[in-house]
Amino acid sequence: MHAARRNTPADPTDEQSPLAPWGASERQRLLESLRPGAEDGHPGWDLVVVGAGITGAGIARDAAMRGLRVLVVDANDLAYGTSSRSSRLIHGGVRYLEQGQVGLVYEALRERTRLYKTASHLVQPADFLFPAYDGDRLPLWKLRVGLALYDALSLYRTHHRSVRAEQAHQREPLLAEEGLRGAVIYEDAVTDDARLTLTTLQSARRSGAEVLTYAEVVSLGRDQESQWVQLSDGLRIRATRVVVAAGPWTSERLLGETGKHLLALSKGIHVVMRASDVPIRQPLVVQVRRSKRIIFVIPWGNRTYLGTTDTAYEGDPGASGVMEEDYAELFPLIQRILPTAPLTRDRVVSAWSGVRPLVRSGPPRPGSSTINISRKHRLVENSDGIIGLVGGKLTTYRAMAKEAVDHVVRAIRAAEPEREIPRCTTHLHPLVPGDELGDDALRDPLIADLAPRHGPYARTLAERVRSDPSLSGRLVEDLPYRWVEVDQAIRFEGSWHLDDILRRRLPLALTDHRHGGEVARTIATRLIDARGGSGADIEEEILRYRESLLRETGYDLNPSSASSSARP
Ligand SMILES: Cc1cc2nc3c(=O)[nH]c(=O)nc-3n(C[C@H](O)[C@H](O)[C@H](O)COP(=O)(O)OP(=O)(O)OC[C@H]3O[C@@H](n4cnc5c(N)ncnc54)[C@H](O)[C@@H]3O)c2cc1C
Repeated sequence: MHAARRNTPADPTDEQSPLAPWGASERQRLLESLRPGAEDGHPGWDLVVVGAGITGAGIARDAAMRGLRVLVVDANDLAYGTSSRSSRLIHGGVRYLEQGQVGLVYEALRERTRLYKTASHLVQPADFLFPAYDGDRLPLWKLRVGLALYDALSLYRTHHRSVRAEQAHQREPLLAEEGLRGAVIYEDAVTDDARLTLTTLQSARRSGAEVLTYAEVVSLGRDQESQWVQLSDGLRIRATRVVVAAGPWTSERLLGETGKHLLALSKGIHVVMRASDVPIRQPLVVQVRRSKRIIFVIPWGNRTYLGTTDTAYEGDPGASGVMEEDYAELFPLIQRILPTAPLTRDRVVSAWSGVRPLVRSGPPRPGSSTINISRKHRLVENSDGIIGLVGGKLTTYRAMAKEAVDHVVRAIRAAEPEREIPRCTTHLHPLVPGDELGDDALRDPLIADLAPRHGPYARTLAERVRSDPSLSGRLVEDLPYRWVEVDQAIRFEGSWHLDDILRRRLPLALTDHRHGGEVARTIATRLIDARGGSGADIEEEILRYRESLLRETGYDLNPSSASSSARP
């Protein structure tokens, strides 16, 4: 089954091609195909990618669409790391202009344009309001100059406007009036980072790639025959080329000497509030006066999220949590321009914390700030010929992946000169094939709830609801997530644990004031029904989710009384 599927990848342009199932039985089949002895008659992997964040997902999609036989392995769930913990923006990065990083901004804006076409349901353009106050680091004239350059770097696909203080206040009545000099309004886009990663991997799977989550690579290397990775259960998988895309985990352990001191890690947190507490009408950009930073305040349906911070970090990237000092840093910076919003701990719905993998330009300097480190990516190759792709942005993942796959293709062609491998086509095909949903379809409240996450595939989900109306309802009343999406997450989205669903597929962990406490048991039961297991497994899933929620957000879950509370 496994080899057959890889030999007949779905044509990425075929709009009728169904979403490939991705549940417990597909996982089982993949595991069996990887067992020693099962490779007899197996053509072998061209490429093993270590890490199923956005970087690994992009590489897998690009390589699979060029016909390479690709396997992605991740120690955790897909998008478990930085790729579900970002500011969720597809943007050029106005901040980087202040640092003179014109090339990075140009590339990111070009990729933004491409993502508008290939992932239109996941990349929503929005008007960002960037106010200037008396005494700000960036006065209005500097904002105007910067945003004029931003327009030019987008090749004038977008155009900023400048408004006076009264107009800025009319557009955003929550803004403090005192000292307001005016604002610029410019376009950027908001996305769902974890879902962009998932959808990229689903597209890769449609083209024949395989993805194995909860499979940690403990060592990797090269011998006479090929390169290889070894998983924690002892399984060794061979491939012509291995690419490490392990984000902030990319280190000496995975890349040897080449990985040593490659990265500087920086933590950033985001806080989720009710939209009724921070009722902004559009994304806001807040200047930080004392450092070259900005903070975003972004509307998110019935919620608003605020962030981020930028603090040097050491330790396990999976263990970075939101701390009291993070709130203490963030709230006053925003309160200055939104003086009436109740930015207090008791009004917080949830929070998240991520770790940036920043590429170092020199040796480590303890205690130095990470704010000015470039967000550019770097492609490295170690003495075994194993490639590492680190740094960069969610926004630029496709371009980063192309660079890495071009490199892999050169290596494969050097070994197999007769092999034809086509050029990159990832910018040409949508991640989810099918006609976009028209206004008519979106008038259906069910489709309207589903469309932002599933795009054209919302139609299929709606049909499933029609044949099983029990899947119709919302998981919790004030959020758009529907029960059919739980079914989808289990059967088509590679979910293995409860926290995969409640944190990364349907992020109740971040948006629900009970963090999914009311539905956790029902979802865990459905998951274990599909996966096979007992009542004890259901309890274990709930405990696992509870621990991961507490670790990252600081909130505890009480599934029996259907409530959760702040960490004491
Ligand atoms: C606070 C913050 C805000 C950001 N905001 C934005 C933004 O608005 N826009 C933007 O474009 N970018 C943003 N970024 C940057 C962006 O999120 C990252 O560049 C991107 O997500 C990195 O993805 P990655 O795939 O390289 O790493 P990750 O997403 O961390 O993926 C690495 C994966 O490797 C796996 N792994 C690790 N070790 C192993 C192993 N031994 N074996 C197998 N698997 C392993 C991990 O489980 C993980 O899933 C932000 C980052 C942060 C932290």
